Amino acid sequence: MRATRIWSLKSLSDELLDREYAVRVRSDRASTAELLLYLGEMEARKRYVPAGYSSMFRFCVECGRMSEDVAYKRIRSARLARRFPAIYDRIADGRITLSALVLLAPQLTAHTVEHLLAGAEHKTNEQVKLLLAEIAPRPDVPTTERPNAPASSSASTNVSTSSAELAVRPVAPSECTTPTESKVPLAEERDRASATQQAEPDAAGPAGPAAAAERRIAPRSHQTPLSPTSMYIGTTLPMVVYEQLQEARELLSHRLESRELSEVLEAMLAITLPVLRKQKFAESASPRSTRDLRHGSRNARQIPAHVKRAVWERDGGRCTFVGTGGHRCTSRERIEFDHRVPVTKSGEATVENVRLLCHAHNQFEADRVLGEGFMKAKRAWSAAAQRSRAAIGTGNAIPEDPASENAGRTSPLELET
Ligand SMILES: [Zn+2]
Repeated sequence: MRATRIWSLKSLSDELLDREYAVRVRSDRASTAELLLYLGEMEARKRYVPAGYSSMFRFCVECGRMSEDVAYKRIRSARLARRFPAIYDRIADGRITLSALVLLAPQLTAHTVEHLLAGAEHKTNEQVKLLLAEIAPRPDVPTTERPNAPASSSASTNVSTSSAELAVRPVAPSECTTPTESKVPLAEERDRASATQQAEPDAAGPAGPAAAAERRIAPRSHQTPLSPTSMYIGTTLPMVVYEQLQEARELLSHRLESRELSEVLEAMLAITLPVLRKQKFAESASPRSTRDLRHGSRNARQIPAHVKRAVWERDGGRCTFVGTGGHRCTSRERIEFDHRVPVTKSGEATVENVRLLCHAHNQFEADRVLGEGFMKAKRAWSAAAQRSRAAIGTGNAIPEDPASENAGRTSPLELET
């Protein structure tokens, strides 16, 4: 009888977990590079034919049990690596990902390969797309606005009539043509992989045919840089938002040269951004002089506007947390103002004592400084109070916990500790 492995690492210390995880990430990269080497050789010798498969793609999916999109990326990368062997080392040491390679593929030639591979090292897909937009800019595409048509009779009527698509149809920028790498067409496989990806329900998403139809009709927003000066954005809007957009277009019409959506958005952002900046980090047209910056607030929980401005500027609007390996967090989202020395330990709302942290690191620091037990109880109390407020329908029904780290906060975006 085969022994069943217990798939749990709960007994590992954090240090051992970190170390063992890093070992496995390194070995995963190395084995991916080796797999490409073998996969390329298997395809070159057409070993899939005697095995009973009509293509390497089918062999990978049906025999290798790879998903369609993984098979597509691996085959494409393996072909590139055979043409440009410098790719193997870069995959093995993690300088480049298979996704980045597939994005680069249409532009890779003997002349461009070194430059492009160097430029794409340690880059995210979005950064690689920007790189490509610089070296191979594409023309702007006209904006279209149209209601979504039902994809099939089983599609939800609600979805098809309640959304409008702001989409650019003449080209699909995310799809790359393959002028330089057309030795063996993978287009069919790519389409199949892409179709399967679209049709496959998300693990966390709703199930059932109606939900699947909804996902096909209403794809998530996506964006692709076309050139250094223009970005393609495709999205689906609820009809109510589309109607608000139309209203904004009418209200702004006296200051617009055309009815172009990009111009409407530009005019709206000119109005909205100063408001958002003021809410988030108290940006002002007439900020206080730097002489005042050292002065904090009498109420340490309330961070004065001039302190927020100075902190935001000093920290570059980005989380300042530095990990054990010296890596500074790159997050610019869900940024919160944090007291280095907590208010409960006499920390003040001064520029020196306040810093920017993302939500995850603010929580982590609060646990570390104040104790996990204390913060757990505090969060449970906050959640219960929030539920009570929601039930009563007023924001003032429950008095704030005087010891709360959040008491007196000026914005729900900020968790001050
Ligand atoms: Zn962070």
